[in-house]
Amino acid sequence: MVAPASPPPSDSPEHRSSVDNLPTRFGSGWTSGVLSIVLGIVGLGAVICFHFPNLLTMPELREKYPVEIIRAVLHIELVAAFLLAMLSLVLRERKVLGLTGGGLVLIAALLGGSRVVIDDQIKDKGFFLGLDWFLLNLIYTCAIFIPLERLFARLPDQPIFRRGFVTDFTYFLISTLAVQLTTYLTIQPATVLFQWAVSPRVHAFVQNLPWVVQFLIIMLSVDLIQYWVHRVMHTVPWLWKFHAVHHSTDAMDWLAGSRLHLVEQVFTRTSSLIPAVVLGFHHVPVIAYLIFISFHATFIHANVRIGWGPLDWLFVSPRFHHWHHAIEREAIDKNFAVHFPVLDLLFGTYYLPGKSWPTGFGIHDKVPSGWLRQFFYPFLPQRKSVQENTPTVEVHE
Ligand SMILES: [Zn+2]
Ligand SMILES: [Zn+2]
Repeated sequence: MVAPASPPPSDSPEHRSSVDNLPTRFGSGWTSGVLSIVLGIVGLGAVICFHFPNLLTMPELREKYPVEIIRAVLHIELVAAFLLAMLSLVLRERKVLGLTGGGLVLIAALLGGSRVVIDDQIKDKGFFLGLDWFLLNLIYTCAIFIPLERLFARLPDQPIFRRGFVTDFTYFLISTLAVQLTTYLTIQPATVLFQWAVSPRVHAFVQNLPWVVQFLIIMLSVDLIQYWVHRVMHTVPWLWKFHAVHHSTDAMDWLAGSRLHLVEQVFTRTSSLIPAVVLGFHHVPVIAYLIFISFHATFIHANVRIGWGPLDWLFVSPRFHHWHHAIEREAIDKNFAVHFPVLDLLFGTYYLPGKSWPTGFGIHDKVPSGWLRQFFYPFLPQRKSVQENTPTVEVHE
């Protein structure tokens, strides 16, 4: 990875939080306040999981949890969130961050904290919401990407709680909570529709290949299918309405990639599963790929100036995908690949000018704000539904 030496010049003399309009520099109580909120959410979520394990945890993860260690970590985590909230309250003139973090810890403590007795009657079958999956995802994503965006920000003035944050966080929350539903809706169609193409001989041959080769085949085959699915979504008007939701963000960061309509999520993931069904990879490279794609999909949307230097044409970088979201006329309907830009070179949709970045993000369509309104948006009649070749920026949120 290559990171340019310095970020673009900042317009304002000091970065300010969009929550309370106070400085975010170290020592201002901002870092402690935000950390107390993140830890407070994770702690409260974990306590709720302890209360309702059957309803709120994934059976596959549930049986592997070292419960006593989690209890100890949860206890330390809630104490840390409380102390950070207090620190923020002392340091910061306005108290909204510290009070929010402290309030979350208080609710978690009132609900029993780390000492909640777990119902032993664990049932493995039935409906569940992946609250534990959401919490693990939140910890992992925040721990990696918030520091990356602070250290290597492309737009240092862009706040974490920027416009559209609540909408995108709702996407992040719902898509992880609904993991059972989306997994079912994804695996079922791919397995049923492509059962005819399954050959035990092919599966045996593929599974005997080295894992690294299988990993590369997964990357390439998924990207090839995904390229055309993505391109079709930009071309067919009624499909574009679903994908327009993803393009409606006017800020790129670690959370922006979460904005995916549920129908698009199922459609794209189902098509991405076809190679796995037909070729029958070993589960190790498949799991490795799932971990990789969850990192990479977030990375290419992140507000970071990190790239691959002279290899930018070989692997998709944040700059490459930022151009896919760009408002510039010449960048519209370009850069569809998610792993290998060579697919765009091959099919005539490659666009990566010099070392420059787009001047803004968004689309012409008037996509409403908020998860619920965006969910219904593709199903309602629109005046204009196809991305237009006009570099007009509409503010969506
Ligand atoms: Zn797109
Ligand atoms: Zn995107």
